[in-house]
Order: sequence, then C-alpha cells, then structure tokens
Amino acid sequence: MTGTFDVIVIGIGAMGASACFHLAARGIKALGLEQFDIPNSLGSSHGHSRMIRKAYFEHPNYVPLLHRAYELWAELEALSGRRLLHRVGGVFVGPRNKTLVGGAMAAARLHHLPHELLTADELRRRWPQFVVPDEWHAFFEPDSGFLLPERAISTYAELAMRRGAEIHGQEPVRQWRRDGRNCVVNTDYGEYAAERLIFCGGAWSGKLLAHLGVPLRVTRQVAAWAWPKEPRSFELGQIPVWGIDSLDGGLYYGFPMIDEVPGFKFAHHLPTEKPVDPDTVSRDVQPGERDALRKILTTFLPAADGPLLALKTCLYTNSPDGHFIIDNYPDHPGVQIACGFSGHGFKFASVIGACLAEACVTGKQDKALDFLRLSRFGAHHG
Ligand SMILES: Cc1cc2nc3c(=O)[nH]c(=O)nc-3n(C[C@H](O)[C@H](O)[C@H](O)COP(=O)(O)OP(=O)(O)OC[C@H]3O[C@@H](n4cnc5c(N)ncnc54)[C@H](O)[C@@H]3O)c2cc1C
Repeated sequence: MTGTFDVIVIGIGAMGASACFHLAARGIKALGLEQFDIPNSLGSSHGHSRMIRKAYFEHPNYVPLLHRAYELWAELEALSGRRLLHRVGGVFVGPRNKTLVGGAMAAARLHHLPHELLTADELRRRWPQFVVPDEWHAFFEPDSGFLLPERAISTYAELAMRRGAEIHGQEPVRQWRRDGRNCVVNTDYGEYAAERLIFCGGAWSGKLLAHLGVPLRVTRQVAAWAWPKEPRSFELGQIPVWGIDSLDGGLYYGFPMIDEVPGFKFAHHLPTEKPVDPDTVSRDVQPGERDALRKILTTFLPAADGPLLALKTCLYTNSPDGHFIIDNYPDHPGVQIACGFSGHGFKFASVIGACLAEACVTGKQDKALDFLRLSRFGAHHG
C-alpha cells in the first residue's frame, strides 16, 4: 500500500489517537499507524482508569493546560455521547510539608482552585476507609476524578475515522526518512509520505527517535485489583480517587470500583524503578511485587484488603526531569514529537492532541507548551 497524506501520526495510543481526531476535525488528511491493536494493553494507556486532577504539585505551568484538557474531554463526551470522565473528587494524603499535600496546596492557592485541607481526623470522619498517621493531612480537590483510557482512545480513533482520518492497527513503522519536502514512512505493508510527521510512540519513542539527544527511561509499573472485604465502601460514589505519600519519591494511589472491571484498583507510582526494554520487558508479576502491593491495603485501606483479582503491568516513559517533551524534532522541520509522559500524561491527551494538530496548521507550537520543550535540557535543538 502507498499513499500521500498531510500528516502521519506514529503510535495510536493516548496522544496519537487524540492528535488524529484533532487533525481530522481541522480537515487535515491524516494517517495514523499503530504497531499493536487500537486500543492495546502493551503500552502505557491500559488498565481502565487514569486520574485527572487540577492542583498539579508537579509544576504549576500544567494548570492552564489542565483547564483546557477538562474542556476538551467534555467536548469529546458531548460529541460522542459517551461518558469518559468521572468527576468524583480526589483526596491526597501525607505529611503537610511534603510534595503531595504541600505541592497540591501551593498549586491550588496559586491558581485559585477549589480545595480543602483536612486533618487526619477529619479525613477519617469523612472516609473511614482510610487509616493514616494522626499528624498527616489530606488535600481534597472536588474537581479531581478519573478517565476511562481504553474508551477514550477508542472514541478518539473512531471519531477521527468518521471525520476522514485513515488509521491502521497492527502495522509497525520500521523506518522513516526525509525526502525533499516530504517525510517517508515504511511499514511491512506499505510506504507513505506526508509533509508532516507526529511521533507519539510512547515507550518506544527512544527507539524511534535516535537523535533526540535526551535519554528516555522506560520503567515497568504494576497495578492490582482486589475484591474488598467491605465492597460497598469502595463503590463509585463512596470513595474519591486517592493518593497517599509513599515517602520514597512516589505515591500509592487508587480508584473507586467501576463497571468496566471487577474489584478495587490500587498501585504504587514510582518512576525510579529500574529501566526496561519495552520489547522484552517481563509482564509477569513476581511474588515480592505482589506482597509489596498488598501492603498498601493492609496498611492504609484494610477494609479493601480482600482476595486479589488481577495484576497488570504497564510502562512509564520517563524524561530526565519527569516533565513531558513536546517539541519539533531537532533538525527535522515538519516533525513533531510528544513523548516522555513520565507516568502522568493521560489526563493531558485531549489538550496535547489539539496542540499537535494546531501546530500543523500554524507551523508554531502553543506557547503554553514552552516549558516542555527540549531546549530545557540544553540539547541541540532545531
Ligand atoms: C500504571 C500506569 C498508571 C498511570 N496512571 C496515570 C494517571 O492516573 N493519570 C495520568 O494522567 N496518567 C497516568 N499514567 C500515564 C499515562 O497513562 C501515559 O502518560 C500516557 O498513556 C502516555 O500516552 P502515549 O500516547 O505517550 O503512550 P501509549 O498510549 O502507550 O501510545 C504509544 C503507542 O505508540 C505505539 N508505537 C510505538 N512504536 C511504534 C511503531 N514503531 N509503529 C507504530 N506504533 C508504534 C505503541 O504501540 C503505543 O500503542 C499512567 C501510566 C501507567 C503505566
């Protein structure tokens, strides 16, 4: 198969599916190429739930992007008639002076976001499911909630195709090169050309982008589902999304139970795990990892500590500073990259797809993304 398009998007996960939709919505002829299924459970966007929150302790510059992300998720829900975001509130618990609670408070104050600061006692009175040290605090944000990732990707891909985009699953990109004005992309099934390329390869970005000049560390994360001893307390509407400071540079987190999958989901967000290769990573979960996950429930949510139902591995693609990389590819005009989402990118997929598509129209990157450019690493930059 051969073909010429305005834009080729490589990788149809969270960012790529959104980019295809936003390109097609602007009347741009787009081709999307995905190596696995759409959606798939081998990259970074599976597992039925992804947290969304506004009081971003990681960096205050994400907050304006988040306002747009929420608007665009709502637009997608309205266009598709599908529920994709559950605004159930979020509670983040830990020592008041540490990043999880202190950073969220700082972001909320700076951006005038609705929030409450609760003592441990107040937390326990509102949600007796939590057992936490008396001296800890809880930051509560009513606008937090969660997205349904597989459904969001499917919706973006489907609406993109309905608006004229062409999307191929099970078609890995093997090579790409610049040929005059065009970029040429080769797969096992064809050769395709376009003036513009967008790389959204997730955990494979380091392999696809040899000249990035910045290391991307892929790490393996495991999420678990258990059937609570007291299931009623963990249903949707009974408990918000939650995060608990794990005091090791990461956090424990989880979601209320949902119809998509049985059980209460919980995990340990720890981007400092040892690096893996996305093509050879073991998806098996070792007994030690299982025990460590269980301890989250035993310690902080004992009423949820029932039989284990499922364990799933997922991949983070960590940039050196934990912030996303969205920019033009060095020395390759017309080529954009969106990678290094470092375990917290899904909630932004709506706005990032829109920014990538808009840059194809204007030729310029959105100023709101300036803090995510490659130049912050001092890498050589075209
Ligand atoms: C366990 C876990 C929990 C998380 N929790 C949250 C959360 O609560 N909130 C949040 O906001 N974020 C969260 N994240 C992070 C978020 O899910 C990711 O940042 C986001 O999904 C990344 O999207 P992506 O499009 O970059 O990657 P993906 O969705 O993985 O898409 C990349 C795609 O590119 C394809 N691809 C790669 N190479 C090629 C090739 N050569 N040819 C064709 N296709 C190719 C891959 O197959 C893949 O489908 C979590 C991540 C994990 C792993």
